[in-house]
Amino acid sequence: MRMKNKVALISGASSGMGAATARLFAREGAKAVVVADLLDKEGEAVVAEIKKAGGTASYIHLDVTDEANWKAAVDKTVADQGSLDVLVNNAGISGSAEQDLYDTAAWNRLMGINATGVFFGMKHGIAAMKKAGTRGSVINLSSVSGIVGQGNIHVGYNASKGAVRLITKAAAAQHGRDGIRINSVHPGLMPPMRTSGRTADPATRAKTLKGVPLGRAGEVDEVAYAILFLASDESSYVTGAELVVDGGWTAV
Ligand code: NAD
Repeated sequence: MRMKNKVALISGASSGMGAATARLFAREGAKAVVVADLLDKEGEAVVAEIKKAGGTASYIHLDVTDEANWKAAVDKTVADQGSLDVLVNNAGISGSAEQDLYDTAAWNRLMGINATGVFFGMKHGIAAMKKAGTRGSVINLSSVSGIVGQGNIHVGYNASKGAVRLITKAAAAQHGRDGIRINSVHPGLMPPMRTSGRTADPATRAKTLKGVPLGRAGEVDEVAYAILFLASDESSYVTGAELVVDGGWTAV
């Protein structure tokens, strides 16, 4: 029961790694898991599944680009559940569907969702944790794309994930003495995102795999377990760290 007594809010938890993390947190005995996303039907389904398995969860509509939405989601979590102990900034969109890798509208979308969305989450989540005066853990989903560049995705994806990597470290430096730990997770080749374009193409994935020492793509639970470690008290001396979950892709 690695999440005992902890209330967690996860953005983008209607799908993919966010949904896997919500299910895992519930299995690990979280006091409550709040699934937050734009996709209401899918999010409600994740909540129903968790409840059916005996866990405690609720759904809240959240557009991470809307600061008022973020404040409302954090306030409601604290009001309903009594605290916010773990915040997972997971919502994101891919840069691999863009044909023009310097398209300005795509840049604004990518930065708005992947970077500013995380900034808003941290701003309101950390404020609630500070106010409560208890320990907290914030986990931000970056990517290998926040560490190295890629030639076939919009530059805004790399820029936004690089921003997540460094706002994580800055916030870790600022909030260590508040008892709040802030870390980033960097998945590599995973099941494609809903918004993936050319990187979802089997031929492109096969080519990428040649550079992955473990020789296979990752599974959503393999990232969820990394997030669980950072959320749990097992990582009590870990802050400002980047946990790479990429089968060795960026090690070579
Ligand atoms: P996914 O597309 O399955 O899930 C992303 C979720 O974010 C969706 O449920 C979507 O509705 C939600 N979302 C998008 N925009 C939103 C908004 N404005 N407000 C609220 N929710 C919004 O993708 P995934 O693979 O589970 O990705 C999760 C995170 O991991 C993302 O930040 C992604 O960039 C990162 N990541 C993914 C991969 C990969 O290969 N899948 C690799 C590295 C990093």
